[in-house]
Amino acid sequence: MDSSAERAYELDRAHVFHSWSAQAQIKPMVVTRAEGSYVWDGEGAQLLDFTSQLVFTNMGHQHPRIVRAIQEQAAELCTVAPGYVNAARSEAARLIASHTPAGLDKVFFTNGGADANEHAIRMARLHTGRQKVLSTYRSYHGGTHLAVNVTGDPRRWPSDNGAAGTVHFFGPFLYRSAFHATTEAEECERALGHLEQVIALEGASTIAAIVLESIPGTAGIMVPPAGYLAGVRELCDRHGIVFIADEVMAGFGRAGRWFAIEHAEGVVPDLLTFAKGVNSGYVPMGGVAINEAIAATFADRVYPGGLTYSGHPLAAAAAVATIRAMEDERAVERAAALGEEVFAPRLAELAGKHEWIGEVRGVGAFWAIEFVSDPVTREPLAPYGGSSDAMNRIVAGCKQRGLLPFVNYNRIHLVPPLTSTVEQVADAIDILDAAIADAGAQA
Ligand code: PLP
Repeated sequence: MDSSAERAYELDRAHVFHSWSAQAQIKPMVVTRAEGSYVWDGEGAQLLDFTSQLVFTNMGHQHPRIVRAIQEQAAELCTVAPGYVNAARSEAARLIASHTPAGLDKVFFTNGGADANEHAIRMARLHTGRQKVLSTYRSYHGGTHLAVNVTGDPRRWPSDNGAAGTVHFFGPFLYRSAFHATTEAEECERALGHLEQVIALEGASTIAAIVLESIPGTAGIMVPPAGYLAGVRELCDRHGIVFIADEVMAGFGRAGRWFAIEHAEGVVPDLLTFAKGVNSGYVPMGGVAINEAIAATFADRVYPGGLTYSGHPLAAAAAVATIRAMEDERAVERAAALGEEVFAPRLAELAGKHEWIGEVRGVGAFWAIEFVSDPVTREPLAPYGGSSDAMNRIVAGCKQRGLLPFVNYNRIHLVPPLTSTVEQVADAIDILDAAIADAGAQA
């Protein structure tokens, strides 16, 4: 490592307290430089960033147009409190509303995804006068108190004090069906039947909202079967429940549509939360897109919530530049094409080659590879909520060969910038192929 990378590492270990980690057991990678789909580590090694960090650099690293917009905004007006009107914020809200599903025309800005979900839930509770919130087990909705209790995945467990009124149910996931289903259609019908029962037994009149990732992200990129989200919409309508679509990870082009919920044609949530891709994560920003009925609730009644940095001008300027660059570079269409033309066929080929691959699934630039130790029993190659030597060997092999993959238990997610080239995706899959073969040979 050169001396400045070494100094950064030493100071980090002395003073930086890292998220989701046992502090003494981590060796975080130093990143000295990044550009497009690549990052460079402290040793000077170049790696293909197929994590988009935490799935947020949708337009790649150091996009010149976004960098320039932040610089120009900083020179003009660095910051102003949320109560004032600011041109960058107004334009960001207009651009966001121009892409959200029809009717979601007002935007409440937050600092990230967790607080977007917290505020969406608060709006739903005040709008309905009900308290309970339903969400799926295989989900992640954020790390703040309520958001982590709404979360279904194991990150909830250490903070699980049953935050008032959070109830979990099973979403559709055919490969590990909770309903013994054998087809997507069966899974859809049974998952909706299950949700209908949960609503009945919890008491529809106690339920404020159902919070769903339009495509669950970190929990496994399970694209819902055709008809599922329409079925949820119908249940919400029938029972006066607010439908909150969490598009924090799946939104802003990741799934080959501006918002992943567009894959379910005609389905419009009441509230839609976003963050990450809205400005490629260059400056922290999230938000809630709000429909007319819920906005009307707060027309003459105070909305009792806010944040010091809501709609921060630097974040808003980055959002304006990101969305315009996405439009001009046809980033969403490119992501869709990468999914159809490269990821789908190449990953299917990979699955055919390696016994350890139980399933590949995804859409756009949003793909998961599910590793199993036994293709018949589907025993995960690392336990739920844990890791294993075999998974660690695959990941280490990827990094040695120049690929940074996103890892979650027994899964590797390939979630590169939407701007990645066909060649970069092909390179990443070749590297993964070699890393799996090597890790298997050492078993
Ligand atoms: N919702 C989803 C679907 C996410 O993937 C995440 C973060 O990964 C969040 C919410 C929380 O966002 P943040 O970390 O910006 O608070």
